[in-house]
Amino acid sequence: MTSRRRVVVVGAGITGLTAAFTLATNRPDTDVVVVEASERVGGKILTTPFAGRPVDCGADAFLARVPEALELCRELGLQTILTSPAQKSAYVWVNGGLHHLPSGLVLGVPTDLDALAASGIVSDDGLARASQDLTRTEWIDSANGVDPDGADDQSVGDLIRTRLGDEVHEKLVSPLLSGVNAGDADYLSLAAGAAQIAVAARTSPSLITALRAQSTAAQINPETPVFHGIPVGTQTLTDLMLARLTQADVPVHLSCPVASITRGEKTWTLSTPLGPITAEEIILATPAHPTARLLETIAPEPARDLASLEYASAAMVTLAISKKSLGVPLDASGFLVAQTDPLPTLTACSWASAKWAHLDDPEVAILRVSAGKHGDTHALDLDDAALVAALSIDLETTMGINAPPLASRVTRWIDALPQYRPGHPARVASWRSGVAAEAPGIHIAGAAYDGLGLPACIRQGRQAAAAIA
Ligand SMILES: Cc1cc2nc3c(=O)[nH]c(=O)nc-3n(C[C@H](O)[C@H](O)[C@H](O)COP(=O)(O)OP(=O)(O)OC[C@H]3O[C@@H](n4cnc5c(N)ncnc54)[C@H](O)[C@@H]3O)c2cc1C
Repeated sequence: MTSRRRVVVVGAGITGLTAAFTLATNRPDTDVVVVEASERVGGKILTTPFAGRPVDCGADAFLARVPEALELCRELGLQTILTSPAQKSAYVWVNGGLHHLPSGLVLGVPTDLDALAASGIVSDDGLARASQDLTRTEWIDSANGVDPDGADDQSVGDLIRTRLGDEVHEKLVSPLLSGVNAGDADYLSLAAGAAQIAVAARTSPSLITALRAQSTAAQINPETPVFHGIPVGTQTLTDLMLARLTQADVPVHLSCPVASITRGEKTWTLSTPLGPITAEEIILATPAHPTARLLETIAPEPARDLASLEYASAAMVTLAISKKSLGVPLDASGFLVAQTDPLPTLTACSWASAKWAHLDDPEVAILRVSAGKHGDTHALDLDDAALVAALSIDLETTMGINAPPLASRVTRWIDALPQYRPGHPARVASWRSGVAAEAPGIHIAGAAYDGLGLPACIRQGRQAAAAIA
């Protein structure tokens, strides 16, 4: 008779729930237990009612052109209700106004220079500088050569400024990529934060030529949506996984923070408010800092470096605005803010009720406004009323909104968004090998490591489950 193994999954965000759900589905030889510090599952995924509709407080979309999130939706029976943005274009606040982003952008990098010229976003000099890329035959940066592991990683800013000039970086690439993790694309790992550009940059001295070739080779139907959303809220994903775990008799202990992990002869013991829990293997699907604390004594080497991973905090402020008070038509999914034209408080604004048909209303517009970024917490330091007032000033500047919001909701995401610095993939590899060597049977997964978007977290949850002995 084979003995049953117990696996404890620590952290019930999308990563931990996917790992537990995968084990519960595929491994009848394993007893799975989930322990979660907070009183709810979902972690950074949260949907609550706002203006009579389920409006996400965090993630509201996932990449549709990679398989992981779609496959999970299929497994949970959600595929028939998936939707995609009603508006495909977006604006950028630049040169003192809202400008349509040109077509042909790949992660902010323009591949259609006529469309870039027509957008009025970059100056003639900026356009001429970007155009030099097209005729370049000599490598002018360190991206040449084959480096699949990103060992000679550089920042997104370094590459784009060198190849296409400062204007393209500051007005297009930086607003698109800095927003993803409330960071600064000048310090963002190219390999970890913009892998598609990293691959293109290695294949040709002309980045635009390489990205065009990538698009042609990928044969992506332009009608295929880039993103999907879940009309009843992204939290449905994590709620459904909780329901499936409950059906499978997998205990999910909420309000149950793990305080420490100690080494036994053949098992690990987790100290929790419920008492000690022993397990043969553990999946730590927690953010880097709590993970580092739990590894402090059992894998001190990787824990020390993991503890130094930087995070950004951000606020997501949801506003209901009377459509009569809008100064611009809501004919796009929202707007980003160029590095050249920072606003006092607002960092991006999603026109949620234009982006998602299910949030539309004849009288009221719903906006999801972001504030706060790495190294700048002044917005987070304001109380809710002061934050809404500060954002209202920026919305008057950008969108001409001339009346206070009908309703508001402030969600603060503290230390929520990991900052991948150049060299991140190599650091992750050393954390993983260090944990495997010092604490065998413990696995690390989640937004701190191999991508912070939902598909990347789901993939890591699957991989952690697959790594269980
Ligand atoms: C405002 C915002 C908007 C976003 N928008 C998008 C988007 O549109 N699309 C997209 O793809 N991604 C988006 N993301 C990113 C994505 O939501 C996150 O990266 C992802 O949800 C993180 O999942 P995770 O499971 O790795 O971690 P988390 O969700 O952080 O889960 C970790 C869990 O561990 C628990 N925990 C911590 N310490 C302990 C302990 N000691 N014991 C037990 N439990 C513990 C925590 O309470 C938490 O529940 C967004 C993120 C934010 C903040």
